[in-house]
Amino acid sequence: MTIIHHLDDATILSFAAGTLGEALSVAAACHISMCSECRTAVRKAEALGGEILDDLESAAVSDMRRAATLASLDDGMMARPVFAKSDMPPPLQRLLAGQNFTQLRWRKKAPGVAVYELPLSKSAKGSLKLLSIAAGMSMLEHGHGGEELTLVLQGAFKDKIGRFARGDIADLDEDTEHCPIIEEGETCICLYATEAPSHFKTFIGRLLQPFLGI
Ligand SMILES: [Zn+2]
Repeated sequence: MTIIHHLDDATILSFAAGTLGEALSVAAACHISMCSECRTAVRKAEALGGEILDDLESAAVSDMRRAATLASLDDGMMARPVFAKSDMPPPLQRLLAGQNFTQLRWRKKAPGVAVYELPLSKSAKGSLKLLSIAAGMSMLEHGHGGEELTLVLQGAFKDKIGRFARGDIADLDEDTEHCPIIEEGETCICLYATEAPSHFKTFIGRLLQPFLGI
């Protein structure tokens, strides 16, 4: 697995500081569990952040949270080859209680599109979903009302930024508009985390948005 698309620096810093929202944190942690480059970046950011936070009252809490996150990454995958046992990143495996993609109760949203909603704590903003999109489909052009992370778990898609395959993460901010097309050959399954709903640009897109729920 060659990962081309990574978390951007701002997301790495927020993740390391424990200030990234819950949905985005899960998607980031899943990518980090697959990506040695971002793992190194998080450790560097934590070393930096640790020095800055030492003087702050919140340091103890943040340290515990960072330690817990890293420990879960460590026991999830550091000691073993990644994906030796399962196709899924360990943080996602835990959320799905060991079920694989075929065992999930997907909700069909449109022909070729199914969604599986992942649980978040009550206070969490945004949403975390698995999206299953049939090969060859194109998604509606949409912009973003907030930060969003899309991690490819199976299959691949292309947009104007490039090709995203297994392990790649699209780390988009609100200024980005894009129109992903799923590659032929395999259904694309993505972990999709957002802090706010996407804003579709076209009239038909706006009509479909509540229906698609993405
Ligand atoms: Zn990475």
